[in-house]
This record gives sequence, C-alpha cells and structure tokens, in this order.
Amino acid sequence: MTAASVDVAIVGGGISGLGAARALAAQGASVVVLEARDRVGGRTWSEQRHGAWFDRGGQWRGSNQPRMAALCEALGLRLFPTHHQGRKVLWLGDRISSYAGALPSMAPHKLVLLHVLLRSADVLARRVSAEAPWTARLAALADAVTVEAWRRLTPMGSDVRGVMDAAVRTVFGAEAGELSMLWFLAYLRAGGGMRSLVEIENGAQEQRFVDGAQAVSLGMAAALGDRVVLRAPVRAVVQDAQGVSLATDAGTWRSRYAIVAIPPSLAGRIRWDPGMPPDRDNLTARFPMGATIKFHALYERPFWREAGYSGELVCDRGPVAVAFDNTSHDGRVPALLGFGVGDAARAWGRRDPAERRAAVLDVFARCFGSAAKQPVDWLEQDWSTEAWSGGCPVGNPSPGTLVMLGPALRTPVGRVHWAGTETATAWTGYMEGALQAAERAVAEVSARL
Ligand code: FAD
Repeated sequence: MTAASVDVAIVGGGISGLGAARALAAQGASVVVLEARDRVGGRTWSEQRHGAWFDRGGQWRGSNQPRMAALCEALGLRLFPTHHQGRKVLWLGDRISSYAGALPSMAPHKLVLLHVLLRSADVLARRVSAEAPWTARLAALADAVTVEAWRRLTPMGSDVRGVMDAAVRTVFGAEAGELSMLWFLAYLRAGGGMRSLVEIENGAQEQRFVDGAQAVSLGMAAALGDRVVLRAPVRAVVQDAQGVSLATDAGTWRSRYAIVAIPPSLAGRIRWDPGMPPDRDNLTARFPMGATIKFHALYERPFWREAGYSGELVCDRGPVAVAFDNTSHDGRVPALLGFGVGDAARAWGRRDPAERRAAVLDVFARCFGSAAKQPVDWLEQDWSTEAWSGGCPVGNPSPGTLVMLGPALRTPVGRVHWAGTETATAWTGYMEGALQAAERAVAEVSARL
C-alpha cells in the first residue's frame, strides 16, 4: 500500500513526535505520525487500576518546565502535588534509618561532603553548554572519564557513595561507571542542576497527572486524528532529490522532509538509503538506553502515612534504589512506587517475576511496616523488554562519544531531522525535553518548507 504524500513524516508517536506534528499542523503543513506500537505515548504509558491511573513510564511534571505547563493547560490536563510529607527512609549498608526534613540521617561531616559533591557537580556543569558540551574547555577530559572516576577523586564513605549512587542510577538508569562525566554535566546543565533533577519540591518530581502522563500524548493524538498511524514501525527510509520514502509495516509514506523522534539507538536500526554518514552511524551505535524497572504495590490503606512516613526511600542495594508514595490524587488508591535501576534492574530483570515481587515487597516491609507484604494489586514494568524503547528513562552516550561525534546528534542528514528527548538542550531525558527537541526540529524543517 502507498499512502498519500505529506510535507513532513514524523517517525515516533511519543511526546516529541506528536509535539512536532501538532506544531507543524498548526502552521498548515500536512503531516503524518508513524508509530510502531498500537498506542501513542512511547515512554509514557498509563493504566487504570481500581479506578485510578498509574504510570508504567514517565509520570512527573517538574517545576520550571514551561512547555509541558503550557501544553497541559491547552489540553486541559489536571495535575496534583506529589505527596512527600512525613519521615523519609535511608537504607545504606546494613543500616535502615529515617529522618524528617530535608537532610538525610547522616553524620554532619558526611552531609557536608554530600553537599560539596553536589555543589561541585553543579559548578562544573555551569562550564558546559547544554547545546554543545563538546566545545567546553574541559570537554576532552570530562568525556574521557566516567562519573565513577570523577567521584573517586573525592574520598568518601560508603554512606555518601550510596546516596549518590541511588540518585545517579535513578536519573540516568545507569551506573556511575557507565556514564561519561561530560554527558552527566550537560544533563545537569539542561535540567537546572542535580537538586532540580532529584527533588520533589521545586524539582523534577513536583507534580503528577490525575489521568496519567500518557494523557499528554493521547490529547495531542486525538487532535491529530487520522494523521497518527499506529502499528506502523518505520523499517526503511530512502531519500532522493525530491523527498523521503518511509517504508512501514502499514505501507509506505512519501514526504518532503522527515523528523525522526525516537531514541538514537533505535534510529540506528532503521535501514537508511543512502546510508547514514559515518559520524551519525557511529553515534547511534554508542547510545545505549538506561535500564529501569518500575514497581507499583497498591494497598487497602496508606499504612506508611499512618505510621508517619512519606513513602520516600533511598537504598544503596537490592531491587529498589528509590521509592515514593504514588497514591491516587483523591487518596482512594494508596500505592507505593519503587524504581529498580542500572545493574539492579538488569540483574532483577533476569529473575522470576514472583521472586522480584517478593524482594520488592520485602524492602517496602522492612522500611515502612509489615503491611507492605499484602498489596491488593501489583504492577511492574521492565522497560528493557520493550522493543520500541529498548530501556529508559533515557539513552546515554558512552564515554568519548560526545567529543568524537557530538554534532551528529542534531545535525540533519539530507531531508531527515532529529527530535526525541535525547536531542534536547533543555531538560534532556524528560518530557519537557521531548517537547523542546520537537520545537527545534520543527523550526529547522519550517525554514525549509
Ligand atoms: P519516546 O517516548 O520513546 O517516543 C518514541 C516513540 O517512537 C515511541 O512511541 C516508539 O514506540 C516509537 N518508535 C520507536 N521506533 C520506531 C520506529 N522505527 N518506527 C516508528 N515508531 C517508532 N520524564 C519526565 O519528564 N518525568 C518523569 O517522571 C519521568 N520518569 C520516567 C520513568 C520511566 C520509567 C520512563 C520509562 C521514563 C521516564 N521519563 C520521565 C522520561 C520520559 O518518559 C521521556 O523523556 C519522554 O517520554 C520521551 O519522549 P520521546 O517522544 O522523546 O520518546
């Protein structure tokens, strides 16, 4: 089947692809969004349980995310503040402790060290531009070392290391030893610093969606109507002097330009004709996705709140690195949410689901009370098993890649332009970044239409 030809074909019906389509359609361009799955939303995917929406993927809207704020308002989406009142739990080594307020229960000198580390990362990040980190004076060195190597320059006890590890793993879905220091700094720069990335209040975890975060994509897709084609994985793209042909399982589309709004590692699996330039090809081969499993345990009662806990947990071992209260907005469906990330996600992903569930519930029980062992429902999502994501929350270039190949991340190749949150220069890796990347790609294409 050969479908009609359009001005711009967009590969990927996540927030970035749909955001691009929405903006182009508003300008009067004809568009089609070709989406591999039988749903839109990509790394956001919401499910209703017991009358409340829970997110298998991305779920928080942060403060200081203007594009998401404007889009949510335009779509009429309802948000509510993330619950964080009560004592927080810290499980480091063999010790489980809890604390009230913002400061973890650690010896004062360790707190100072943690603060200094976070500060020094933020200070370094200010020396890196989010647009072209490879041009920074420290770029060659920073891209040659991992976050782990940088951290080892500062002697620190296992407590400080444990807190830092949990934060890094959760933000990137990767171990400190996998991450280029330059990528880490550029990411911090794009997201307003480490605190902004990890905190609830005034941070990336500030608000949740009453109807789930997938509502953002569902709302955009509804307005685009039959311009969004599901079950249409793009397998091959042929470019010629007049335009682009995109071959999918649902037929072939012809367009003047294309915007590819999928993670770089997945873009590298499309068959390109002519082939991608070596820099682009090598870049996509060096951009592995993070590893994250999201666990939800739903309960009859919010027993942790009743015992004075906020539901927040930071843990340096086992299947859960961090946990949060994920109770529905109206309080009717109490829930705890845990993230398995990095090596733990890979290791626990290989285990039997029943064993995984028992291990996660055991963590919740030891931290918040034995009632945790009796959830009324259970939901888990291992993103590494999703063929059309390959992992999450974000793809991370391996050390050395940005300095060697960085410009290939966003430089158009012929008539093909790049979007997707990995290409963002504000809030890279987040929904806001997906929209910012779309905005840039649309500006590039509009200038050529
Ligand atoms: P994607 O959502 O990956 O969209 C790409 C789309 O392209 C997908 O629908 C995919 O099916 C499709 N596709 C792939 N290959 C092809 C192909 N060849 N042909 C056609 N279609 C294709 N962000 C936040 O802001 N806040 C959070 O709280 C948050 N938490 C997260 C927690 C988890 C567990 C995960 C998974 C992600 C989280 N994120 C969060 C990240 C956020 O979800 C992503 O940044 C954002 O959704 C990325 O959007 P995107 O459009 O760039 O990419």
